[in-house]
Amino acid sequence: HNRTLSERDRDAVLHPYTNPIRHQETGPLVISRGEGVRVFDDSGKDYIEGLAGLWCTALGWGEERLVAAASEQMRRLPFYHLFGHKAHDPAIELCERLLALAPVPMSKVFLTGSGSEANDTALKLIRYRANALGQPQKKKVIARDRAYHGVTLATSSLTGLAVNHRSFDLPDPAVLRAACPHHYRNARPGESEEDFSTRLAAELEALILAEGPDTVAAFFAEPVMGAGGVIVPPAGYFAKIQAVLDKYDVLLVADEVICGFGRTGKMFGTETFGLRPDIITVAKGLSSGYLPISAVLLSEKMVAPIVAEAGRIGTLGHGFTYGGHPVSAAVAVETLKIYAERDILAHVGRVGPRLQDGLRGFANHPLVGEVRGVGLIGAVELVADKATKAAFDPARGVGAALVARAQQHGLILRAMGDAVAFAPPLVISEDEIAEMLTRFARALADVTAEVIK
Ligand code: PLP
Repeated sequence: HNRTLSERDRDAVLHPYTNPIRHQETGPLVISRGEGVRVFDDSGKDYIEGLAGLWCTALGWGEERLVAAASEQMRRLPFYHLFGHKAHDPAIELCERLLALAPVPMSKVFLTGSGSEANDTALKLIRYRANALGQPQKKKVIARDRAYHGVTLATSSLTGLAVNHRSFDLPDPAVLRAACPHHYRNARPGESEEDFSTRLAAELEALILAEGPDTVAAFFAEPVMGAGGVIVPPAGYFAKIQAVLDKYDVLLVADEVICGFGRTGKMFGTETFGLRPDIITVAKGLSSGYLPISAVLLSEKMVAPIVAEAGRIGTLGHGFTYGGHPVSAAVAVETLKIYAERDILAHVGRVGPRLQDGLRGFANHPLVGEVRGVGLIGAVELVADKATKAAFDPARGVGAALVARAQQHGLILRAMGDAVAFAPPLVISEDEIAEMLTRFARALADVTAEVIK
């Protein structure tokens, strides 16, 4: 090949979440290897991965134990499946470990390959259960504005971001939409976090009553919304939402795809924020992103009717070829062992405040409207006017400019509008957090100079 990787990429690859026209000018950032919290491009330049790839590489790059677990399993049994009464030991062990870790009692685990597949499976099993219980009308689901639950045809409609709907003829109008619990943006003047939470719970109740409680099956929620801008729930939010769901027999699905396995400081966001889910979906950190795998944890309330219905029909007519893939499952088991052995929760407890305090150090900056976060996830939102919270004209692309500057300074971040997210590998050290914040400060100074000039 005489042509560069960048040229070959532009000719061959259609990229997700990328402007394909601009990509022809800019080309890709080609990442060729990783080590710890850093990745290196094809020229050898290093970057701190401020988002752990896509919120997933919790153990950082180069974890040899995961490589060994994969290669051992690859040699012994590279493929098998769980269809038709078959089983394999990595899947069994993984399901046992997930049940043992679950933050609320769970009965069974269904293994899938991605976060989208896990949530899609949750949607299908909710529908299956409704039919099993003789409640065929109780199937509507509620998801929130700015939620991210995936991009399959069904889960895209749960996702509450316009870019995932536009020109795809989505969302499905059968998906009901609840408000995003972002106090900074959506609270009324003077409304406390508690009062805001009370109002959102009342709005949820009004929605359920308007639709008819006998038609509403489930409410989907990320404990901390990730792709929607790192939205940490306001005080009292989930307790008040949970009370409404309980009152109308509406299931709660906790999408722990980002929050699961320590990101918020506890093993699950469910624990950090006091949810009582009937279904939990996990992915990403489950294998530290090393191989694709995800899981749906199901309470007895789900399992009993599903088992009865599948027994009646003769089989559970759902499952993916790669669901619980043995190599992925072996890597996930090893990942969970490492989290326990290295006490990842204690580590996040030690270094999380360093990130949160560091980010809050930018709160007085003239362009910073809000700093938010918990554990090892956070965001800094830039605004045109701090006093009025007025946002920049989206056409200016201020968030994207900040991310581009950060990349020049050796830090990979992700912009969600003008909010920039941080979710580094959970193994990040205090020194590495300090270095990440220094690189961010340089990028913010550059953008400030450009915006204010
Ligand atoms: N749910 C949440 C909370 C996510 O953040 C994501 C991906 O970012 C998904 C679901 C979808 O996961 P996947 O991209 O593996 O399909």
